[in-house]
Amino acid sequence: MKEYLEKSSKILDELQTTEQGLSEAEAARRLSEHGPNRLAAGKKKSNLQRFFEELKDPMILILLAAALISGITSAYEGESYADVVIILTVVIINAVLGVLQESKAEKAIEALQEIAAATSKVMRGGKMEVKKSEELVPGDIVILEAGDAVPADGRILESASMKIEEAALTGESVPVNKTADVLNAGAASEVPLGDRKNMVYMGSTVVYGRGRAVITGTGMKTEMGKIAHVLTQSADESTPLQKRLNQLSKILSVMVLAICAVIFVVGILKEGVTPQNILNTFMVAVSLAVAAIPEGLAAVVTIVLSIGVTKMSKRNAVIRKLTAVETLGCTQVICSDKTGTLTQNKMTVVKHEGSDIKRLVSVMALCSDAEPDENGEAVGEPTECALVNDAQKEGCPKKSLSVQYPRVGEAPFDSMRKRMTTIHRANDGTYFSCTKGAPDEILKRCTSVWRDGRKQPMTEAFRQEILSQNKAMADQALRVLAAAGRAWNQMPSSQEPDFLEQDLCFLGLCGMIDPVRPEVVDAIRECRGAGIRPVMITGDHKDTAVAIAKELGILEAGWKAVTGAEIDQLSDEELDRRIEEYAVYARVQPEHKVRIVDAWKRKGRITAMTGDGVNDAPSIKRADIGIGMGITGTDVTKNVADMVLADDNFATIIAAVEEGRRIYDNIRKAIQFLLASNLAEVLSIFCATLMGFTILNPVHLLWINLITDCFPALALGMEDGEADIMKRPPRNADDGIFADGLGFDVAFQGIVITVLTLASYFIGHYLEAGRWEIVNSPDGMSMAFLTLSMVEIFHSFNMRSRKGSIFHMKHQNKYLWGAMALSFVLTSAVIYIPVLSSAFGFERISALEYDVAIGLGLLVIPAVEISKWIRRKFA
Ligand code: ADP
Ligand code: MG
Repeated sequence: MKEYLEKSSKILDELQTTEQGLSEAEAARRLSEHGPNRLAAGKKKSNLQRFFEELKDPMILILLAAALISGITSAYEGESYADVVIILTVVIINAVLGVLQESKAEKAIEALQEIAAATSKVMRGGKMEVKKSEELVPGDIVILEAGDAVPADGRILESASMKIEEAALTGESVPVNKTADVLNAGAASEVPLGDRKNMVYMGSTVVYGRGRAVITGTGMKTEMGKIAHVLTQSADESTPLQKRLNQLSKILSVMVLAICAVIFVVGILKEGVTPQNILNTFMVAVSLAVAAIPEGLAAVVTIVLSIGVTKMSKRNAVIRKLTAVETLGCTQVICSDKTGTLTQNKMTVVKHEGSDIKRLVSVMALCSDAEPDENGEAVGEPTECALVNDAQKEGCPKKSLSVQYPRVGEAPFDSMRKRMTTIHRANDGTYFSCTKGAPDEILKRCTSVWRDGRKQPMTEAFRQEILSQNKAMADQALRVLAAAGRAWNQMPSSQEPDFLEQDLCFLGLCGMIDPVRPEVVDAIRECRGAGIRPVMITGDHKDTAVAIAKELGILEAGWKAVTGAEIDQLSDEELDRRIEEYAVYARVQPEHKVRIVDAWKRKGRITAMTGDGVNDAPSIKRADIGIGMGITGTDVTKNVADMVLADDNFATIIAAVEEGRRIYDNIRKAIQFLLASNLAEVLSIFCATLMGFTILNPVHLLWINLITDCFPALALGMEDGEADIMKRPPRNADDGIFADGLGFDVAFQGIVITVLTLASYFIGHYLEAGRWEIVNSPDGMSMAFLTLSMVEIFHSFNMRSRKGSIFHMKHQNKYLWGAMALSFVLTSAVIYIPVLSSAFGFERISALEYDVAIGLGLLVIPAVEISKWIRRKFA
């Protein structure tokens, strides 16, 4: 059907609905008939597909080759297939773990998307309700406002200067003026999509004005659904750290493969070409490869990240782009909106200035989109609710005002103009307009003032009086709005703001309190302590902003407040020079926010910026961390944000920064832990090969790398933040994996572990044979394995803090104790359970040997403690 060629009443009949909307029951029925309003998602990878993808890893391919070759030789020599079985088991366990972690990470992201799911304002049974956009059905009446994403296709029923940007559908980025009128297709009887001015389409956004539409098509039956048969799945996104790790493991793989090839060739040349020699040297080469490559690393990082984002969402910070988790930890400047984020956005009018209060509050209420609900409490935008509630208190309820003076036109609020106007019809057939907004803006457009029951010309004396009343209120941290009116003999010929908002008669001022959020005071203090600069940005008056900034501790000695008009006077160079002095920006427009972000970025600062309105999207996009508002934010800003605050609260940003720092710290701890372990394995194999004995077989290393090491590494990822986490300056965003001495630590700790492992091998042989010698020793091998495994467990406790002593940590990590118990059990099992020990080729060792091996393992704690102490001493 061509809905745009029909009258809207006909469309409503056709869809068996009314302006009041559908009933809940009918909506539910239609939902089951039409299905949810969403585009079909791309097919997900099955777990089996994922499993085979895991096997494509070059490391795994080497292992499979190793399994194949030892299988062939075992068959040839009539030996057992233990190695093959172990290698395959470990590979399979590893792949299964990989699949599990991937689907877990995916679930975490899906859960976040669920929280951030789009909502729509829809009429159900005569009442406006906020529903998930997925639940919309044909026949629903939706209310659209500036900043909303259009949730489905619909025919417009009402448009108050509504402009919609439809670039996603038509490629045209200039917003289209929408209307409720019937289109005239002329002879063509077909109107192209871009010209259907009385229709709205899924995938477009309202950029100005307000309107209502009846939904005509949902889900795949929308124009969008026709174009995009399948929702393109967002590309896998990796964080900078993950990218660096990928690079590192690529470099490692290439290096290792080259070294292995050399060892293999040299070994064969030296020992001669016999099948036995080929197998032996091949196994050494495989050992080295297995030893050097941190197989578990990527998985550990992904899991820690995904658990981290889930934890952040529990603290009300919903991450939309995974990279934000890392960037948060580097944040140096946080630019925050005042209203709603630093303050509660629970406004109450507490003061009036004007000679006719009833007239003042009535005009304020008429010029508001907020409406009283059945209890008389206003619902809508907080500033407007305050005004409507205030009018009610003064004996001018909005309900009866709207009946007496119905609204017949408007120039909607816009944060550039900082004001709005509505047109009303009076009983006698005349019209009048109500304008409200920022006092300075209103005053500029007033030529008269209402005094003592009549209109008087605006004089300089009146003007000064009003400005000083305004200042007095603003200094008390009140948000001040002015109201003005104008009479019209007939309906104004244009609803353009410039036409309506001139020659006005000033009516008075309303001052409202917006209490600061109490928790923000502490958050600001914490933010300062963490070396992060808080900056307040607001459209409100400078004096109001300054009063609140002082209360919160944002504006302190040496720092300044400026207005948008003042920064308009500055060139970019001048702004760059002064940007660090400014802590408060008042009377700004959204485009100023872009300049502020850009200036900080030119200074090389990692900058976070909050925003809620339609026009805030550019600055949010520009910022290193764009922050959207979950409650008051528009869809447009939420869609481009890196993070959304579920509670709109500044304190949540600080909590997210803390989480970001913690997650990054923990990932580095896990990386250091795993790399030190890999280095120790390489060094041990290398030394043993030089000296001419086999210290550990590839399967032993595999077991350690893929099984026992992963648990402590994951447990490290769960560490609480260290005590100084919010007392140190932000990390440098350019720092690589090895920054801050991590490379040195890995080398030192790798050497310590190597020494302990080799010592254990020799002691093992001495305890067995009664003399020191360098030979292949079964007891030595078992002890080296036991010590290496145990060192890892104990060393993971060292890694709870990279610099501090572990004896001074305030809390315990229960996961680490769990990992320890598990590793202990698994390690002892492969040595003492006969089937396993013979498969692994372990000699049963005595209790003394067992104790010595573990004792040696424990030595890693004092060794690392001493190195940390020396470092602290000389730092
Ligand atoms: P903020 O909410 O941070 O003050 P805005 O850009 O939303 O910034 O608003 C800018 C100014 O416009 C406000 O300081 C106020 O003076 C005025 N204003 C805000 N909301 C309304 C409204 N609904 N109607 C008229 N004027 C408003
Ligand atoms: Mg606002």
